[in-house]
Amino acid sequence: MSKIALVHNEIFQNHGTPEAHPESPERVAAIDEALHRSELMLELDRISPREATTAELLSVHRDFYIQELEAKHLRAQESGGLIQLDADTFMSQRSFATAKLAAGGGLEAVRNVLTGGHKHAYVVVRPPGHHALADRPMGFCLFNNVALAARYAQRELNLKKVMIIDWDVHHGNGTQEIFYDDPSVLFLSFHQYPFWPPDMGWYTEDGLGNGKGYNINIPLPAGTGDRGYLAAWDAIVKPVCFEYQPDLILLSAGYDAHSADPLGQQQISTQGYFLLTNRLVELSEASNCQIVCFLEGGYNTRSLADSVVATVKVLNAHDKSHRDNLEAFGGIYGAEVGPATHDRNPFLVDDRIAEVRQYMAKYWRSLRTSS
Ligand SMILES: [Zn+2]
Repeated sequence: MSKIALVHNEIFQNHGTPEAHPESPERVAAIDEALHRSELMLELDRISPREATTAELLSVHRDFYIQELEAKHLRAQESGGLIQLDADTFMSQRSFATAKLAAGGGLEAVRNVLTGGHKHAYVVVRPPGHHALADRPMGFCLFNNVALAARYAQRELNLKKVMIIDWDVHHGNGTQEIFYDDPSVLFLSFHQYPFWPPDMGWYTEDGLGNGKGYNINIPLPAGTGDRGYLAAWDAIVKPVCFEYQPDLILLSAGYDAHSADPLGQQQISTQGYFLLTNRLVELSEASNCQIVCFLEGGYNTRSLADSVVATVKVLNAHDKSHRDNLEAFGGIYGAEVGPATHDRNPFLVDDRIAEVRQYMAKYWRSLRTSS
């Protein structure tokens, strides 16, 4: 059986942020430690990242923006300190190279999954990417790793349709903007709403021109737990995926909707990420397409690391009975996994899911029948 390709390397600790900044190098160090502790590393195929080329970056980002970042990189090198790009996004001396490696790591993961015989892939990189716009950095992100991977799959590997699912607690505004008028990339984002970025991510933001209907936002109220996320998955993600029939699924895997996260107010448990990944793998098997996951947010290093391990364990399971067994033994690793969580206000969550379904039903036949 083919293995999971893992992009993971200590070089992703080289992107420096200020002291006490939540997007810290310790995040990937904690994931590294947890993957080793779980003994998963023995079963994974670790692949080396490479820097994305300028031509590859230009498939998503504007030329002047790449040049601007390069100029700021030179300034960071001269000063030896941090350069502030916006309210909370920074560059250190090695950030430019690290960001190009994060982007290129995603491209290598896609290539390995589609042509290298790997089953699925997980890309543990930083800086994260889903807030990065075509022409500017935002929200800790420099290059939009998942968007670059979608373009690479289409341009270099001739895939027609890519589905991007984003379960980070924040709206994936960068990815939304990049593909807003493009029906060949279906973007679907779960997020806490209202939240950051402000005034973005409502479900009426549904695409533009030919892309109308191919941007799906599921804005969930604060306090949504495993139950609500799973209900939204079953009511919206699953039917839409079957109808769209993507050639590849990319996941913007943020873990800041975890109940232990210091930034988000959602209530997903580690078990919840396990169950969501189970749904994701079922969907990929039923749709006959593969999955590449990209690390986005997640700022409690313990819940982040445990949840990444949970995701990778499910991706790595041989088949459904193996996955069910993991669940039966609480076997993500040891007794670290809490019970599945409920929503603070399930009625509010169910109403919102029904509203989104009803609104998007004009584009998707599969949402017209009762769930
Ligand atoms: Zn986030």
